[in-house]
Amino acid sequence: MSIPLKNIISAIDTKSYDTVDDDVIIDHVSIDSRSSHNSPNTLFFALIGPNNDAHTYIPQLINEGVQHFVVSYIPKDLEKKASFILVENTLEALQKFAVYYRELFDFPVIGITGSNGKTIVKEWLNFLLSPDYNAIRSPKSFNSQVGVPLSVIAINEKHNLGIFEAGISTVNEMEKLEPIVQPSIGVLTNIGSSHDEGFENTDQKIKEKLLLFKHSSILIYKKNERVDALLPKNIPTFSWSFDDATANLLVYKTETQNQKTTLYYQYQEKSFQIEIPFEDYASIENAISCLMVLLYFNYSNSVIQSRMHLLYPVEMRLKVKNGINNCSLIDDSYSSDYQSLKIALDFLDSQNKFQKKTLILSDILQSGLSNEELYSRVAKLVVSNKISRVIGIGETITAFQNKFTNCITYPSTIDFLTDFENLDFSNETILVKGARSFEFEEIIAVLEEKKHETVFEINLNALSYNLNFFRSKLQPNVKIMVMVKAFGYGNGGLEIAKLLEHHKVDYLGVAFADEGISLKNGGIRLPIMVLNPESTSYSSIIQHQLEPEIYNLKGLHNFIKIAEQKKLKNFPIHIKVDTGMHRLGFERNDIDELIQTLKGNTSVQVKSILSHMATSDDAKHYDFALKQINLFDELSSKIMTELQIHPIRHILNTSGISNFPEAQFNMVRLGIGIYGVSNDTEEQKYLENVGTLKSIISQIRTIPAGDSVGYGRRFMAEKETKIATIPIGYADGISRAWGNGVGYVTIKNQKAQIVGSVCMDMLMVDVSIIPCNEGDDVIIFGESPTVSEMAHHLNTIPYEVLTSISQRVKRVFYR
Ligand SMILES: *Cc1c(COP(=O)(O)O)cnc(C)c1O
Repeated sequence: MSIPLKNIISAIDTKSYDTVDDDVIIDHVSIDSRSSHNSPNTLFFALIGPNNDAHTYIPQLINEGVQHFVVSYIPKDLEKKASFILVENTLEALQKFAVYYRELFDFPVIGITGSNGKTIVKEWLNFLLSPDYNAIRSPKSFNSQVGVPLSVIAINEKHNLGIFEAGISTVNEMEKLEPIVQPSIGVLTNIGSSHDEGFENTDQKIKEKLLLFKHSSILIYKKNERVDALLPKNIPTFSWSFDDATANLLVYKTETQNQKTTLYYQYQEKSFQIEIPFEDYASIENAISCLMVLLYFNYSNSVIQSRMHLLYPVEMRLKVKNGINNCSLIDDSYSSDYQSLKIALDFLDSQNKFQKKTLILSDILQSGLSNEELYSRVAKLVVSNKISRVIGIGETITAFQNKFTNCITYPSTIDFLTDFENLDFSNETILVKGARSFEFEEIIAVLEEKKHETVFEINLNALSYNLNFFRSKLQPNVKIMVMVKAFGYGNGGLEIAKLLEHHKVDYLGVAFADEGISLKNGGIRLPIMVLNPESTSYSSIIQHQLEPEIYNLKGLHNFIKIAEQKKLKNFPIHIKVDTGMHRLGFERNDIDELIQTLKGNTSVQVKSILSHMATSDDAKHYDFALKQINLFDELSSKIMTELQIHPIRHILNTSGISNFPEAQFNMVRLGIGIYGVSNDTEEQKYLENVGTLKSIISQIRTIPAGDSVGYGRRFMAEKETKIATIPIGYADGISRAWGNGVGYVTIKNQKAQIVGSVCMDMLMVDVSIIPCNEGDDVIIFGESPTVSEMAHHLNTIPYEVLTSISQRVKRVFYR
């Protein structure tokens, strides 16, 4: 962005301001004191939250060079130290700024609200429309009073479509969000009972939600009498239904098989069918919302089918885990409302592993119904979903126990846990569903199968999510190669390659022939480029149909010689040119001979020309990066013109995709980003964590003051200290530099410092203030610490931390 401060001052109802220079141009707006993008041209909004007042960070921000602040008071002793724009309420000022900013852009904006499915519909629409649009969308579930303005402020000149979600928890909130989003196309997803407690009744909630569409040119929704009655007449609608033929689109049949559903629908008097890779009811509804948007955008059925076919699960709130005694556990221990209970039971029904099904259910807190009515309905659901037994936890459900047939109840989670030994759980599916306050994670902990080992857990959904994040940055028709070298950056080669094949990426990249061969042997059919083929591996490269990168004349001559001996025709090769990285590649002086050698040669075919950037992640070297790009353009153009060929050209790696969108040529090479790591702290917020390195506590002991821990007695206890031993060490890839008070692990959501030196197979941590037991889970890295944080303290880069995890650590993949 680039906006004169004075325009902002007049847009946000400023009470007074004290600034040297209101001609200054603001190029960045921030609410995050830790953002590395904060600079002298940042405008910082000091928000005040329930636990945090950002005004307290202002002195530190001034030290770091930030000069412009929107505040609701000027912190003591800071008058005249920076420019302060005083407003009544900094959140409202941020929202007003977002309204002003939104008005600077004129392109279609899809606004999504509803009780469930907002984030999924947003992510899917982004995925479905990304081949044709450069869409800006809310990151993760930024749909709140703060999240929505932040999402909108991220719009830039390159975007031509907006996809934003808006969520509310009480009245008068949507009124503020509508002018910020200004959706031209409205999508109302499923209306359920979450947040009912913030409203007098469901009608009031629906009415409030509908305010988002006040000025929309179309509202897409599932036809339903209740909404129709509340819908202002001036909003044109585009509706769908499973049974009401007056809707614009009628889904008259659904057929489910093998985790796929075929939808048969009637639209404009014709019948169509499409297949989606889901079978649960919630996903089907969300997919239909997306289908409606695509129809509204006039996509043909064949395009719709080919794209919807590739939809992927966005997140699994319902996690399936292995339980004790061969049980299967469905963990939904974070919410309890009637609607989500229905969804969870539906999901339970789709798991046909066992006949026997147990529901462990807490009191339902936000239903909007009388308890009598509520538990009667729940009892009906239990019967229709063929639940074998119900275990109710909470005082209310205990009072209504007689509504259920096979039901035992406990007043509290503790009572259940005390009686746990007497309950028999085996060979059954158990749905654990409870409101946050019941702490059902304790129940999950006793029911979950204990795995006594160190594992590296890879979240495949997160990987898909990250892939789509970067895909959405690509211009139409730009291909994508994903780098899976070094065992998928330590995350696992074959499994990740399979997922990428499923997502139809165009190419895979590996470092050495061996890596490519094991992927081909594992059944991967995608073309695979080998970055660093040794001459001795040329034969096996050919045998396994891998595609070598050729980076010098010697390699070229050798490869052609072998290709000719084997009488190959048009064998694909990739030409690497050196534009400044000075690692591998043909230099300018080699290009003529390269061209002469290839001219008229029919044994090989130049499939692509590539180069690699040395500084795509570093704004300091922006000019150097541009030089590389220009030289690449020049040298590759020369090769193309003289040989009269049109190969794929590619130079961008992950940071390049983010920082040099104009240099995408015909393909990009995505690496670290897909594994959830960005070199940019802003972008990091948009990525999902993929890998979590986990272990358990082997032993706990308490040592008195004066005792030491580990080799060389490098930790001396100053007071009585509780020490936990974790079976992971430097042989597993945990650097010794991470020990001796530098690093920490996470146990029960709390940091535990590593004390003493990291040993070969073990390390010790201080758990004096953490209530924990032997056998408890330990997170070595993942959400906290993150790989980037760890790398930073170890004076290295996340790439090294990830690829150091040794092969003896078992990789576990989950969705
Ligand atoms: C590893 C690699 C990439 C990917 O780099 P990231 O920074 O991980 O995105 C791209 N191109 C080449 C030649 C590479 O070696």
